[in-house]
Amino acid sequence: MNIEIGSTGIVVEKNGFGALPIQRRDMKEGSKILRRAFEGGIRFFDTARDYTDSEAKIGQALHDVREQICIATKTSAKDVKTFWKHLDISLNNLRTDYIDIYQFHNPPVCFRPDDKTGLYEAALEAKAQGKIRHIGISNHQITVAREAVESGLYVSLQFPFSYLATEEEADLMRRCTEKGMAFISMKAMSGGLLKNFYTANAYLARLPVIPIWGIQWESELDELLECVKNTPDLTEERLQIIETDRQEFGGEFCRGCGYCLPCPAKIDIPQAARMILMLRRSSVKVFTSQQYREMMNNIPNCTGCKHCLKHCPYHLDVPRLLRDNYEDYVRFTSKSSDG
Ligand code: SF4
Ligand code: SF4
Repeated sequence: MNIEIGSTGIVVEKNGFGALPIQRRDMKEGSKILRRAFEGGIRFFDTARDYTDSEAKIGQALHDVREQICIATKTSAKDVKTFWKHLDISLNNLRTDYIDIYQFHNPPVCFRPDDKTGLYEAALEAKAQGKIRHIGISNHQITVAREAVESGLYVSLQFPFSYLATEEEADLMRRCTEKGMAFISMKAMSGGLLKNFYTANAYLARLPVIPIWGIQWESELDELLECVKNTPDLTEERLQIIETDRQEFGGEFCRGCGYCLPCPAKIDIPQAARMILMLRRSSVKVFTSQQYREMMNNIPNCTGCKHCLKHCPYHLDVPRLLRDNYEDYVRFTSKSSDG
């Protein structure tokens, strides 16, 4: 199924490739997966300067078909000098002389002309030089995201979105469409909490969004390419899965984004704050291993510094969530060792 990226005139296959996880594969394997994705019909590839060698793998795999694909990458630069440095590295890594959509990577504020950072002006200059075609933004904070949409300064917003989205998040998506902006949805599997790929895909297939699916393994790509060939139906059974998941998760759950890190007590918050949900949905054996027990047993070392509280974009009461997970985990593991 094809879709236009906002009002850019760029039309791509709706299912995009999220290139964060291919950092974890070596160059040969990562490039092979990317090439297979292209051959299977995928045309939109999203990466970031911060995803180590992800851009280089895209460059290696796809430089000879550059004109047939749309590349979106991101810069986390907070000053103009770093902006130009990142852009040059990205162009070099991607083996191209232009980037289709250059996104500010989860900035703490919505960059604008005259905001004294000079970053938006730098992006305009890069556009004038032909190094980028369009300016986009990614964000995890709904306030910054909303401001970006209303500003009219960006062609696209990249934001976490799955069938667990709140009404406020759904409203953000609708507003993007009204403003002619692309809504690029990341974390469609909610950071690993959702287990049924076809259900997540069927749900997003019916919305005006461009989902980017994080792909690391061949089996994940197989599923994605099946959806590219045949859009999955939102069957009664899938609607039931959505309903059950929505009831189970409500609105207050850790998405595993990691923006609360680093924790001075070295608590692995993205894992530990979701442990009970993971335990319910995955193999118990994995999460009761020595490694996970040690991770969970570190929770009482929380110093109460509030760093996580200040940085969680979902405004979660992280220390409380950790405590709840710890207590449930101790109960759970003592029961499983009894039994
Ligand atoms: S409040 Fe506790 S969990 Fe949060 S960052 Fe500080 S030490 Fe870590
Ligand atoms: S606690 Fe908040 S910031 Fe930390 S991983 Fe979970 S959702 Fe992200």
